[in-house]
Amino acid sequence: MMPYGTQAEAEAALGRALTAVEELWFRYSAQIPDWLLYYHNILFLFLVFTLVPLPLALLELKGFKPLDNYKLQPKARLLPAEFRRCYVDVMRVFIFVVGPLQLMSFPMIKFVGIRTGLGLPSLWEIFFQLLVYFLLEDYGNYWIHRFLHSKWGYENIHRVHHEFTAPIGFAAPYAHWAEVLILGIPSFLGPAIAPGHMITFWLWIILRQMEAIETHSGYEFPFTPTKYIPFYGGAEYHDYHHYVGRQSQSNFASVFTYCDYLYGTDKGYRYQKEYLHKMRNQWADGDFAEAAKSE
Ligand SMILES: [Zn+2]
Ligand SMILES: [Zn+2]
Repeated sequence: MMPYGTQAEAEAALGRALTAVEELWFRYSAQIPDWLLYYHNILFLFLVFTLVPLPLALLELKGFKPLDNYKLQPKARLLPAEFRRCYVDVMRVFIFVVGPLQLMSFPMIKFVGIRTGLGLPSLWEIFFQLLVYFLLEDYGNYWIHRFLHSKWGYENIHRVHHEFTAPIGFAAPYAHWAEVLILGIPSFLGPAIAPGHMITFWLWIILRQMEAIETHSGYEFPFTPTKYIPFYGGAEYHDYHHYVGRQSQSNFASVFTYCDYLYGTDKGYRYQKEYLHKMRNQWADGDFAEAAKSE
């Protein structure tokens, strides 16, 4: 909650007029306690988990033909009941694990110094902080994911996330409750090391989940804006990890590709990509006999 009763008091304390966005933020948040602002995340997560995967899921279930060209595993078709089961399981983990985790983590947010007041951070500050959060989370997530592919980690925890060999957007947060808890650690790492404004934190939670839903969507669209982000993995990259399944020792990173490249865990994926590329070229050149031999 802000220590100012009126906008004039806030402006006097800052020594300048509020910007239009700051004015909006003041009107919205000045009388709301910090814990309640933080708990907005619970609502945001619920809305993102529910609404972001929905349009693609509905189009797929309706059999919308133009989508077929972009489906990564064209033969994999899930039934409406399987979509429903995935969502219900995600909501169960959301109610019993994600929600309580958010409720309990407020003291930590207070401790690291995530602020709610004025002035608001600049767009550059938000951008660089989000970049740091994504990089740190990606690095932590990479090593935890590798551990989860050990015999013990896979059989006891990670196999749940891999039930979907052809993932769908709703399956992004579909995992064993212990995995959701463990992967919460790298998610908090960035905000703990480089704490910013609550708005930045909200954006972090929303964007990270949207990114996970995109990479699990099962579709690779040529017009997706994330294609222009350097070292960005994307749907095809993570889909390969699910496609290979249990034996997968490739494509562990959740957002970028640099960790897999540095630690040599993208070899299977690269080999498969080159092989498919070669095959396509042979077919295009009309060298059917050679291509058939390679198959
Ligand atoms: Zn995995
Ligand atoms: Zn996954």
